[in-house]
Amino acid sequence: MNLNLIAKIGPKTEKLLNKINIYTVEDLLSYYPYRYNIIKFVNIDEALDNTISYVLATVLSDIKVAYIKRNFNRLSFIAANNNQTFTVTIFNRAFLKKNLTLNREIVLIGKYNKLKNTFVANDIKFSYEKERIEAVYHLTEGLKNSTIESFVASALQLDYNIADYVPDIYNNKYKLLSKNEAIKLIHQPKSITDIKRSELKLIYEELFLYMFKINYLKEINKKAQGIKKEFAMNLVEDFLNDLSFRLTTDQETTIKEILKDMQSDIRMNRLVLGDVGSGKTVVAVTAIFANYLSGYQSAFMAPTEILAKQHYETLQNYLANYDLKIGLLTGSLTKKNKEKLYAQINAGEIDVVIGTHALLNEGAAFASLGLVITDEQHRFGVNQRSLLQNKGLNKDADVLYLSATPIPRTYALTIYGDLDLSQIKTKPNTRKEIITKVVLEKNIREVLLAMLEELKKNHQIFVVSPLIEQNDELDLNSVNILKEKLDRAFNNKVPIGILHGKLKQKEKDELMLEFQTGKIKILISTTVIEVGIDIPKASLMVIFNAERFGLATLHQLRGRVGRSDIQSYCYLVTNDDNNERLKVMASSNDGFYISEKDFELRGGGDLFGVKQSGDMTFKIADLKRDYKILLQAKIDSENYLAKSLFKGNSLYEKELEKINFLD
Ligand code: ADP
Ligand code: MG
Repeated sequence: MNLNLIAKIGPKTEKLLNKINIYTVEDLLSYYPYRYNIIKFVNIDEALDNTISYVLATVLSDIKVAYIKRNFNRLSFIAANNNQTFTVTIFNRAFLKKNLTLNREIVLIGKYNKLKNTFVANDIKFSYEKERIEAVYHLTEGLKNSTIESFVASALQLDYNIADYVPDIYNNKYKLLSKNEAIKLIHQPKSITDIKRSELKLIYEELFLYMFKINYLKEINKKAQGIKKEFAMNLVEDFLNDLSFRLTTDQETTIKEILKDMQSDIRMNRLVLGDVGSGKTVVAVTAIFANYLSGYQSAFMAPTEILAKQHYETLQNYLANYDLKIGLLTGSLTKKNKEKLYAQINAGEIDVVIGTHALLNEGAAFASLGLVITDEQHRFGVNQRSLLQNKGLNKDADVLYLSATPIPRTYALTIYGDLDLSQIKTKPNTRKEIITKVVLEKNIREVLLAMLEELKKNHQIFVVSPLIEQNDELDLNSVNILKEKLDRAFNNKVPIGILHGKLKQKEKDELMLEFQTGKIKILISTTVIEVGIDIPKASLMVIFNAERFGLATLHQLRGRVGRSDIQSYCYLVTNDDNNERLKVMASSNDGFYISEKDFELRGGGDLFGVKQSGDMTFKIADLKRDYKILLQAKIDSENYLAKSLFKGNSLYEKELEKINFLD
């Protein structure tokens, strides 16, 4: 249904909604809140300094505004609640001054510091709020939460049509809400029970559909015809013996499993899970080499151009003694060179092509493609996986996924159930452990001194902050503020770069290149820094507001240092002096151990890398928090598939078309 059926939505608002992927009324209704505010007024003496409280108050003084610097001001005044007076401060709301008239009744939302008798407000409201449960949505600039709330309220009045993916047998079995009821209650709950029941339905639905697809692919994969490859095993052994190091046991096992897959007439669909630095590349190279020996071409895909280039160089080194022709296909090639390369690929003159996903999208026509490898598997969701195995490139080609997100095995077997799994747990013992310290923000000097120490040695430093722009609500160290602070600390003498998600890919690549070549010494960024990139001289990772990140992210971030034999360090800066996750980080460098811990610890986790993955970005389900539901959805969907219950269900038939490659 068209958004303009909602009276209040004009063309301008529609554009804003499009920005957050809302194009229809149904999209709007499927835009679930990510949390709720339980609006309940308390007296000032009941307000706590660690939770957001709502306090009804009266303005008792003139309003003072202090302009601290550009784009940064503080407004303050005296207010009263329940015969008690206190100071109110709020940042960057100078514009409220004219509305905060003497004796006006207002609603303060924020935290109360008893010691200072000061209420630090995040927000001040004027219209009389009622006690209620407020749905909170992810917003984009120009859209207010209350606006989305009111659009949703209008949409709920319409005769919309949103499919229910939960088959009736399971709706009945678990007494789940109907989809329409769930949609209504997720947006407008009257009670905690409403939230719980609607969430349960919507979470189960997402996980059921996901597991259904996984199980379906698994069935298909079991029977998928591949190429039965023949190659001289002794040549592969010679290649391995000529390496400058000895393989670890897990590398050996993984290589064996891969070679066996390649020799079989069932197509390979294997996922190699190994932590950063566990040595996945040489495993991939061995597969490429065996594939070459059997007379086929390989395609090796990386998520970014920089990584593709890096792999290109690595492969050239590994295969220097052999006459494999290696091509690099990236967006920055001129049209002419690209066409030339395509022609060579098509004529079978190139044995290995390394590139970004353009390889897949532009559909280079290979003469005889036998192997497709994708690095950093977590960027591929189940729909992309089937694309890769099907319409992509070549139907028979073996597919190998590499992933640097170590997750517990039982877990991986569920969410990647369509793939065979190899794990590289042991790490080459050449790498030094990264020394990790948790530092309280008030002791920041210690971190600055450590930075200075590394800079003196001509090493490089990553600095990570959770946000881009200063957000007074959260009071986090944004990258821009950090740059100012660091420039001051180092007297503007150290070249510092800033990298964040709002930059274009090309700008990001350029910055990374400057960092790689040492032009930039300190790189401040949000968490967007690409995984896998090698900056051999980067020896220090400083993460601000570290308590805000999940273990998976922290571990991935830390993995960006310590990639050479330089002793490396990771400083986790926080105000939280008793954070379990940070303690885990300080105690271990082992990704599989950390992911097990991540699984055990309640709350605040982002299960190892899984969230950011392709179409595995669930709207409402959280694979870790909802693990039990996931397991049930797995069993139910297996059953649904095995008994062919999906036949005749047009919703499911349509979904299968999307991932179907049997045509
Ligand atoms: P990742 O799994 O993160 O992709 P790489 O394949 O890039 O790891 O390997 C990291 C480094 O370890 C590389 O410099 C590689 O040459 C080296 N390496 C890989 N396997 C071994 C091994 N068995 N012994 C010693 N060094 C190894
Ligand atoms: Mg790698």
